[in-house]
Amino acid sequence: MTKITPQPGIMDIALYQGGAGHVEGVANVVKLSSNENPFGPSEAAKEAFRKAAYELHRYPSTDHGQLRAAIGEIHGLDPARIVCGVGSDEIIAFLCQGYAGPGDEVIHTEHGFAMYRISTLANGATPVEVPERERVTDVDAILAACTESTRLVFVANPNNPTGTMIGEAELRRLAEGLPDRALLVIDGAYAEYVEGYDGGAALVESRDNVVMTRTFSKLHGLGGLRVGWGYGPAHVIDVLNRLRGPFNLSHAALVTAEAAIRDTAWAAKCREDNTRLRAWLAEALAEHGVPSDTSTANFILARFGSRDEAEACDTYLQSQGLIVRKVAGYNLPNCLRITVGDEAACRRVAHAVGQFKGGAR
Ligand SMILES: *Cc1c(COP(=O)(O)O)cnc(C)c1O
Repeated sequence: MTKITPQPGIMDIALYQGGAGHVEGVANVVKLSSNENPFGPSEAAKEAFRKAAYELHRYPSTDHGQLRAAIGEIHGLDPARIVCGVGSDEIIAFLCQGYAGPGDEVIHTEHGFAMYRISTLANGATPVEVPERERVTDVDAILAACTESTRLVFVANPNNPTGTMIGEAELRRLAEGLPDRALLVIDGAYAEYVEGYDGGAALVESRDNVVMTRTFSKLHGLGGLRVGWGYGPAHVIDVLNRLRGPFNLSHAALVTAEAAIRDTAWAAKCREDNTRLRAWLAEALAEHGVPSDTSTANFILARFGSRDEAEACDTYLQSQGLIVRKVAGYNLPNCLRITVGDEAACRRVAHAVGQFKGGAR
């Protein structure tokens, strides 16, 4: 037996399962398993990426000044309190690295995003899972779970994979009720899909214990590029910048993300299409006897009668070239998470679920 062993916690990490992308022997497959934008990124973003090919020999900006300025301009935020990372996953990792270690507790909710637990364990801290109320974040349950050892509280709003969200008054009540040493992280990966929601930015600005994370992977259609960002109080951003590698984002990533966020017309078009198709899909599934909670994101959490039925439906959908996401790993064994695709994809899914429910097994 080797005496070379990793730090405590690391071997407790279950490897992250990404959404599948192909089915053996089935052609014309539609991937609806990773909440990607079915329309892809804006033309301006693709053009910026092409141009970046001529700069590949140059090291990128270390301070991400231009991207932070663009984010600040579009969202009305102070660029000095923005930090950019390799996806928001990296911001989540920095937060855990910066604030949680052995003996510390990190709270996430019952059906919360997998990376919170993974990053917590990677730093030797203890993940604490808090129940939700019917697949909705429960502020009282989170406050009741806080202890002197709580350092971070992760809430995705809207949450993945439930698609539900809580209101700004509830977020504020949570921030106000936390123990002195705990930091609230509001993960806004899907905030752009919610008309009139700032992702928690105003709350960040009014307090010293709230951070918001955001991403270019969802509405902006750049999941393959890996760009995310955080917005927080100056003292937290200072910590994250010390942990951040100076060249964590490539030049191509920086200029492409900047072009994407400046193309507000493309973002608005994608948001509107998602809102319309999401409502259509939810209703079509409900008519086939498959209910879902009202989703505020770019996916629907379809509920089946049992784990067996959800798994059988998943198998049937795969045979029809439709890849959705099983979420048993998120304590939702009787559900399937279905990304809102383009209109053709939504029609295919609704039709296939109807066939399945009608006995096509
Ligand atoms: C997709 C997703 C992210 C984004 O991750 P990136 O690293 O930015 O691609 C973050 N949080 C939640 C809840 C997500 O679903």
